[in-house]
Amino acid sequence: MEEVIRPKISIVIPLYNEAEVFDELRQRLEELMKAFELSIEVVMVDDGSSDLTAEKMRKLSMENKNFQSVFLSRNFGHQIALTAGLRFAQAQEAIMLMDADLQDPPEMIHKFYEHLKQGNDVVYAVRSSRQSTFLMKIAYSLFYRAMKRFSYINIPLDSGDFAMISRRVADHINAMPEESRFIRGMRSWVGFRQIGISHDREERKSGNSKYSLKNLISLALNGLFNFSKYPIRFTVMLGLVALSSSLAYFLITLFRKFVIGDVPSGFTALLFTIILFGGLQLIAIGIIGEYVLRIFFQVKNRPLYIVKERIKNGETTIE
Ligand code: UDP
Ligand code: MG
Repeated sequence: MEEVIRPKISIVIPLYNEAEVFDELRQRLEELMKAFELSIEVVMVDDGSSDLTAEKMRKLSMENKNFQSVFLSRNFGHQIALTAGLRFAQAQEAIMLMDADLQDPPEMIHKFYEHLKQGNDVVYAVRSSRQSTFLMKIAYSLFYRAMKRFSYINIPLDSGDFAMISRRVADHINAMPEESRFIRGMRSWVGFRQIGISHDREERKSGNSKYSLKNLISLALNGLFNFSKYPIRFTVMLGLVALSSSLAYFLITLFRKFVIGDVPSGFTALLFTIILFGGLQLIAIGIIGEYVLRIFFQVKNRPLYIVKERIKNGETTIE
């Protein structure tokens, strides 16, 4: 029997059109591997890039066996690429998740690992500063605070997916079958001892953000709808408020008609009410729709991604 030597730590990195930053990423990781006390494997996941990312990954994986490459059949999105990487990570002890753009310094591995060894299962980075436009900063801040307020799990403020998790936490996340994945929420849900350590988020080293506004909004909605009962509760509350205020108005109208004796001229009020309730109903249906949509995609039970090729230990497997 050939003995399989598993690395101690895996670093999972999703890449989508990151050719511009790739060489610097490679250099930083190779230096890190030399400096770190334990054996490291890097799992790069190509999320259907259309630039030179895949070629660069292939070359690196052939030259250095500590770099595993997984190529998805198309662009599945950041959270799914992370999911794929997590499933292919072989580390015995811990897995670090990071972005390719070096906004989150890979050198944090030392700090992460130190805290992991102290008995934490999840060590996540908390951004003490963020390089972004003023409006985006406000949007991010509002989102994280809304999540904190509304979610039934304790998702830490201002922390993304940059983290190190223990083998068992990774196993638990891998075993979750959910289709709509919000990794940082799933990570919190798992529990055990979790700790946040702060760091300054740097600017992307090169290239542009691969998250369009649409993707960001969809990520935020996933966070909100996948980990909160509030949207549904909110519609019930809205309905109750609407019902009681219209009942009150109805009683006032009856009183005016039969006791005072004037017939209220309420055309404007009528129009206003119809529009108001039409809108409220649409919002309520929309909120229910968000949940139905999630059920719909979940029951299809499709695989989360499709791998078209993999390079491990310098050997290529075409799926
Ligand atoms: N990414 C991905 N698939 C996508 C979009 C992004 O794998 O569809 C990767 C991207 O290459 C990067 C990470 O996810 O490694 C985070 O993306 P980005 O830095 O563009 O997001 P931002 O930091 O701007 O939120
Ligand atoms: Mg980034």
